[in-house]
Amino acid sequence: MRLIPLGGLGEIGLNMILVESGDDLIAVDCGLMFPDDELPGIDHVIPDFSYVLGKRGDFRAVVLTHGHEDHIGALPYLLREVHAPVYGTPLTLALAGERLREHGLLEEADLRPMRPRERLEIGAFTVEPIRVTHSIVDGMGLAIRTPAGTVVHTGDFKLDPSPLDGELADVARFAELGAEGVLVLCSDSTNVDRPGHTRSEVEVGHALAERFRGAPGRIIVATFASHIHRIQQVLDLTARHGRRAALLGMSMQKNVVIAAELGCLRVPPGVLLPLEDLTGLAPERQVILSTGSQGEPNSALALMAAREHKYVQVAPGDLVIISARVIPGHERTVG
Ligand SMILES: [Zn+2]
Repeated sequence: MRLIPLGGLGEIGLNMILVESGDDLIAVDCGLMFPDDELPGIDHVIPDFSYVLGKRGDFRAVVLTHGHEDHIGALPYLLREVHAPVYGTPLTLALAGERLREHGLLEEADLRPMRPRERLEIGAFTVEPIRVTHSIVDGMGLAIRTPAGTVVHTGDFKLDPSPLDGELADVARFAELGAEGVLVLCSDSTNVDRPGHTRSEVEVGHALAERFRGAPGRIIVATFASHIHRIQQVLDLTARHGRRAALLGMSMQKNVVIAAELGCLRVPPGVLLPLEDLTGLAPERQVILSTGSQGEPNSALALMAAREHKYVQVAPGDLVIISARVIPGHERTVG
């Protein structure tokens, strides 16, 4: 049995690891990397698929752990070259499907939903998804049984004892696997080498609520478009304070629609307005939920900060909240 990482070790992004046994080859995740400011003119960095392309007859499947771009974003570039089923939970598949649609690959794609603890037989492997909590909902770790032994891949995780949707990490299942015996544990998550705990999403909600209470005028919140629970908290606070919200940024708008359709997000009735209607309200009734928390050039927040946004000019009395940790490597653009 071989584990062949094509990226994602010791770097942020490009997450993709191959598991190979005899004539069977599967991939866990297929992510891209966002270029830093040392790669001007580059849109996406993708893993080097040569090894897969050289064994395309043996390639059985891609199994996605969760819907972050650094785990699904390179999928269109792979499926352009090889045809294989893609397994993932409903939200992950919906987000991956959106990427495939953008590349005109959705029609021919073979997307197969998977559920926690439900075993998938793929070639020589049995793959069992195990629920983890993370900064995106519907995230899974994987137990991959191979002829040589069990590989446990934790996926990314942010262990949260009180996740917004009540779906706890299935720690018990990991413990059972540990007792059974694990050949290899693959585990990595951003900032995993920093001591201490990340705060629960519920605690973040309390901090956000405090900011909302004290805000005299318009509130602009930038966060990850994939952070459905954070978006939920902002929309709930908006409704509770009698405000209205508009979504800025293509990915924010798309993800809110996808997550609401899947029932992962409950949009309080009447709370969302198109931007042009929102800006007609008094500032103290406005909330703008925006992309660009990493200072990405051309994102809504970057344009607002540079006074180059077509419709939104930041004014005295506005409160701007960047509700996201800085991804290592983006300190300068965020600053
Ligand atoms: Zn992630």
